[in-house]
Amino acid sequence: MRRVDVVVVGGGPAGAACATGLVRRGLDVVVLDRARFPRVKLCGGLVTQEAAAALGLHEADYPHGWLWIDRFHFHWRGLRLPLPSPQISIRRVEFDAFLLQRSGAELVHHRVQTIERQGGGYVVDGQWRADVVVGAGGTACPVYRTFFRELGLREKGLQITALELEFAHEVRERDCHFWFFEEGFPGYYWYIPKAAGWVNVGVGALAEPLKRAQDSIWRHWQRCLAKLQALGWLDGEVPQPGGHTYYLMGLMGRPARVRRDGAYLVGDAAGLATRDLGEGIRAAIESGLRAAAAIADGGDYQLDDLPRTSWPALLRGLVRRRWWA
Ligand SMILES: Cc1cc2nc3c(=O)[nH]c(=O)nc-3n(C[C@H](O)[C@H](O)[C@H](O)COP(=O)(O)OP(=O)(O)OC[C@H]3O[C@@H](n4cnc5c(N)ncnc54)[C@H](O)[C@@H]3O)c2cc1C
Repeated sequence: MRRVDVVVVGGGPAGAACATGLVRRGLDVVVLDRARFPRVKLCGGLVTQEAAAALGLHEADYPHGWLWIDRFHFHWRGLRLPLPSPQISIRRVEFDAFLLQRSGAELVHHRVQTIERQGGGYVVDGQWRADVVVGAGGTACPVYRTFFRELGLREKGLQITALELEFAHEVRERDCHFWFFEEGFPGYYWYIPKAAGWVNVGVGALAEPLKRAQDSIWRHWQRCLAKLQALGWLDGEVPQPGGHTYYLMGLMGRPARVRRDGAYLVGDAAGLATRDLGEGIRAAIESGLRAAAAIADGGDYQLDDLPRTSWPALLRGLVRRRWWA
């Protein structure tokens, strides 16, 4: 059996940020992920400047190239609010692999199934022993399932369901667009351009109200495509989207339930996406870094002050333009 200081389960932004913080502090870390990197992660790939800054990530250091989104357009009932707030559009397939490699941690391709408490530590699938285990496995995280599920951290009413597709297509519109509450949809449609001829299109909503209304997310996917085709931003055959579910941040009682002894939850495993836009990358990075600091330096691990909404970060972008340009 391999002995390490920390096993991180999941190599998305939360796991990569945590691994980065731990390796910098000299700990022996292994990251286990069921996917082979680079791997596709369904996501709009909008990263706020503040999220990139938390990781000390500069445009010049990023080998894949990112697209600066200069303006966001929020649509509601035919009204349009343009917001000039420069933020970053990346492709998750590139971004996640880059962050993981940059962390300097050992990455092992492995689907985690069982995590047992033994002595003062944890044994993962009978192959790794560590004092600390970090649950960074997203919505399906086995650390959450084993040690945290009974605590009721993720609220059913805050579950998001989404369909999304990122595909090669000429970029005909350089800004980012969100259409809210189209035909009673309890969420929004989005269009997000990427660098080098890719676009990202999706629809995401609260699952419970959608189900109560006996509405179908697929119907909204078709409406979204029709809208983009009518605008002339998309044409030709559009491949099938993928589906994913995750959780927005609850209002009460969150911090006390993200650490149990030597088990920590970070990112989507804890359900930390913002309540207005479902933005989760920033919280994934921030929680990963905080967990690393708490593990290595022995401090508290709390997420109480993580932003619950995205709009303040977008508004700050109005005054603080491209920080590193
Ligand atoms: C359609 C969609 C659009 C989104 N758009 C945005 C956006 O534009 N901006 C934004 O900030 N947020 C967005 N989000 C939210 C964002 O994608 C997540 O909050 C973010 O990915 C969370 O990162 P994470 O590291 O916690 O989890 P993930 O990125 O999900 O990583 C979890 C990792 O754990 C691995 N794993 C899972 N189970 C196991 C196991 N048993 N064993 C080993 N490994 C395992 C997985 O393979 C995966 O690599 C979007 C989400 C969706 C679904």
